[in-house]
Amino acid sequence: ETNNQLEAATRFVQDADRFLVVSHVNPDGDAIGSTLGVGQILKQLGKRYVMVNESAIPQKYQFLPDCGQIRSPEDLRTEAPFSYVIAVDAADADRMGECRKLFARDVHILNIDHHATNDRFGTVNVVIPDAAATAQVLYDWVEQMGLEWTQELATCIYTGLLTDTGGFRYANTTPRVMNQAAHLIDRKVEAHRIAEEVLETTTLAHLQLLRKALETLRLSKDGQIAWMWIRRRDIEATGAREEDWDGIVNYARNVMGVDVGILFREVNEKTIRVSFRSRRIVDVGALAQTLGGGGHARAAGCTIMGSAGEVERQVLQKVASALRRVVS
Ligand code: 5GP
Ligand code: MN
Ligand code: MN
Repeated sequence: ETNNQLEAATRFVQDADRFLVVSHVNPDGDAIGSTLGVGQILKQLGKRYVMVNESAIPQKYQFLPDCGQIRSPEDLRTEAPFSYVIAVDAADADRMGECRKLFARDVHILNIDHHATNDRFGTVNVVIPDAAATAQVLYDWVEQMGLEWTQELATCIYTGLLTDTGGFRYANTTPRVMNQAAHLIDRKVEAHRIAEEVLETTTLAHLQLLRKALETLRLSKDGQIAWMWIRRRDIEATGAREEDWDGIVNYARNVMGVDVGILFREVNEKTIRVSFRSRRIVDVGALAQTLGGGGHARAAGCTIMGSAGEVERQVLQKVASALRRVVS
């Protein structure tokens, strides 16, 4: 099944010459590693390509090979429209944000992803929910096409495996992931350096924002739900950027006895961004999907319109009822 999907992907790239490679807004290590990984694949195949992301690439990923070539949608207006798009790590078309404006009306999309909530928006879909990362799907694709594991390609794929498994700690850290990671280190990936850059380095703004977020930490009476807020004034006071709230939600989920950790972030008076993390009981991907978002069982998100109070009440109610349903 996976092999057939990958063969369709190979035909997709064989049949065209110029591609737009795109991933989700506020990209994480898998999104960026997979964007750059597809770039390396297309380079080896002798294809022309442009890489794009709606958001700026967080500084901690800028050491990745060719990272400076990822452009913004505004920057690409004059080169649009693109008829062949390769989307990676995007569960639905919305996740690509403004990049969609660069697509031709009759666009052909190759959708490579691992989210169970992926709605198969592509012309060709390679959606493998069992994969630990989109980078793992790309790993298999590279092997199937018999491409060369250059240090650059190996570094991009390794970064996706590392970050989507939480540093080889989450439940998706299978023997297969570890074997693939070992093979990539054998191909000259500097594992310690990547870990230092992406896991062991924070911005000062991140810590300042974390301090403010921790002041808002609250727990439900039964201690199973913990939540925090990032308010607009905190973002302004710390000068934090999108990348600076990455990881803050984990502090809520990590509290002993908590199953679901939630981070609410005030985008504006009427828009709240919600991040979910769960330990083992609630499938937060399914829960986020009922709120218009999506993600994985243990990590998910959504954006809700409403005032802070309304959104908090609605979300806490949903999480509490999901907990009751599973426990009883
Ligand atoms: P985060 O909380 O780090 O922003 O997102 C956690 C996970 O949920 C990621 O795997 C991300 O792809 C997914 N996710 C977050 N927000 C959304 C959303 O609005 N829609 C969908 N489909 N997935 C999301
Ligand atoms: Mn991602
Ligand atoms: Mn991913």
